[in-house]
Amino acid sequence: MVSNAHHDLVLLVRLQGIYDAIAESIAERNAPPVEIRELDEANRLRQKELEEFEQQIETHEEDLKEVRKKYAEWEVELEHFQKQKGMVTNEREFTAVISEIDYATKALEETSARRQELEESITRIGEEITSRRETGPEEEATHSEVVASWERRKEKLRKKVHQLAKKVATIEGELQPKNRARFLRLLESKHGIAMSAAVEGSCSVCHFALRPHLQQRVRRCEEIIDCEHCHRILFIESALATHDGEGADG
Ligand SMILES: [Zn+2]
Repeated sequence: MVSNAHHDLVLLVRLQGIYDAIAESIAERNAPPVEIRELDEANRLRQKELEEFEQQIETHEEDLKEVRKKYAEWEVELEHFQKQKGMVTNEREFTAVISEIDYATKALEETSARRQELEESITRIGEEITSRRETGPEEEATHSEVVASWERRKEKLRKKVHQLAKKVATIEGELQPKNRARFLRLLESKHGIAMSAAVEGSCSVCHFALRPHLQQRVRRCEEIIDCEHCHRILFIESALATHDGEGADG
C-alpha cells in the first residue's frame, strides 16, 4: 500500500500539471487578442446601427401608410366640394364651398409634402444601409490576417486541449479510484487547484504552516495527506523524486 500512495502522488502531481495546462489553453481561447475584440465590437456596433436604420424605415413606412390614407380622404373631400361648387345657388353658399375647397387643397398639399419627406427619408436610409453593408466585407478584409491567425491559434489550442484530455484519461485510469475521486472533488471545489507543494514547512497555496509531524508524513510519501487548512493534497517535490523507483521503503 505504501508504494501505491507514492505512485499515486507522482501521478496526481503530473495530473495537476496537465489540468493547469488545459485551464491555461481554455483561458487563452476565451481571451481573444485586442484586435479581435475590437473587430467584434465594431461589428456589433455596425449591426446595431443597421438594425436601428431598419427600425427607422419600418416606422417611416407605418407613417407613410397613414399619410397615404389621409391623402386619399382629402381627395374625396375635395371632389365632393368641387361637385357642390357647381350646385350652389347663392353667393354665401359659394363662399362657403370655396373656403372648404381651399382648406382641402391646403391639406392635400401638406399631406403630399409629408409623404414626399417620408419617401425621401426611406430612400436615403435604404441607401445608407446598402453602403454600410458594402463597406462591411472591406473592413473585414483589412482584419482578415488577424482573424485568420486567431482562428489558427484557436484550432491549435483546441487540439492541444484534446491531447491533454487524452493524457488525463490515461493517468486517471492508473490512479486508485478513491484517490482519483478525491482529486477530482478538490479540483472542482478548489477552483482547479487540488494539489499543493509543501515549501519550507508551509502549504504553498494557502500558506498555512504545517505541523512538523505532518511535514514528516508528507515527506515519507506513504499516504495522501491534506493541508489542514485548505485541504488540498500536499506533496514535497524532492521527496517524490527521491522515492521515485525505490518502491516501498517505509
Ligand atoms: Zn493549504
